[in-house]
Amino acid sequence: MPEMICPQCKKPFRQGKHNQRFCTLKCKDDFHNAEKMVAYYQRKREEVEEAEERREARLEVVNGGERKPLSEILEALKPEALPKPEQFKRRAW
Ligand SMILES: [Zn+2]
Repeated sequence: MPEMICPQCKKPFRQGKHNQRFCTLKCKDDFHNAEKMVAYYQRKREEVEEAEERREARLEVVNGGERKPLSEILEALKPEALPKPEQFKRRAW
């Protein structure tokens, strides 16, 4: 039986089955759970980066693709530009 190093706990162990990579089943589970966690956080980070790119793209639209003074942008985003709440109340059910 060859001597192996467990990739999870880094301890040497005697390999039972030829495809055994971990000293215990727990180490195997821990290792794969850690891999899943890394993949999960990787995905989360990509989602955040994507959302930020979308937000920047939206700001570009507000800006008309060019750099306008902040006051002008705020003017375009004023609540008055939105439909008034009364318009929603008159909605026919
Ligand atoms: Zn181990």
